[in-house]
Amino acid sequence: MKQSVKMIVGNWKMNGVSAALAQAEAIRDAVGTTEQGCRVVLCPPATLIDRMQSALTGSGVAVGGQDCHEKPAGAFTGSVSAEMLADAGATVVILGHSERRSAFGETDADVAAKVEAAIAAGLEPIVCVGETLQQRESGDAIAVVSGQVAGSLPSSLAERDFAVAYEPVWAIGTGLTPTLDQIAEVHAAVRAAIVAKLGDGARTAPILYGGSVKPDNARDILATPEVGGALVGGASLKAEEFMPIVNAAA
Ligand code: PEP
Repeated sequence: MKQSVKMIVGNWKMNGVSAALAQAEAIRDAVGTTEQGCRVVLCPPATLIDRMQSALTGSGVAVGGQDCHEKPAGAFTGSVSAEMLADAGATVVILGHSERRSAFGETDADVAAKVEAAIAAGLEPIVCVGETLQQRESGDAIAVVSGQVAGSLPSSLAERDFAVAYEPVWAIGTGLTPTLDQIAEVHAAVRAAIVAKLGDGARTAPILYGGSVKPDNARDILATPEVGGALVGGASLKAEEFMPIVNAAA
């Protein structure tokens, strides 16, 4: 398992056309001149993966997808398979993001099936979990997140490279973040749930934090126990905002 360095992943969501490749190139150039103290991945819309991979070839920045279909091919209009992502140049895929869980009704079982598809295509899955504000306020955050880990990680992940991202739904795109103690508490519970599901070999799988990570809070969040990196949405769209986060991890 690759875990000795932090992993910083940019999730561009449904943002970016050709002109946005200039930001990826600026990130590539900046990463190229920093110490390679962390892994950097950009996850653009599927339409940009191929061109972004060409622009980043040979650099310290990898490319990932934001979702995949659970089946390898077939009559699923509009969907993209894991093999297609890999063929376009992705090496990583985000799965079970809360926007997919809420807007597209994805269940833990759906996410686990997508993880299997990603593994079959040779992609490294990043599996997202996180509680809603209502679940946190009713004291259920740990139970919800632990349940999502148990249900979304198939046993076939044991001994493979993967990451889990803890993303409290109420912190995504809101500018709100949990306290560092709250992050540490959930990350410890996520680690326990991962090990309970997959065994001791999964002790080194990185657990990323995601939800309003910005240049001014990245260093503290990344220094929190069991935080193995960050999943960054809004702040990954511009090199000038993303690079201070990368540098905080390096
Ligand atoms: C995300 O969508 O994964 C995310 C963390 O978004 P933001 O950083 O904008 O909160």
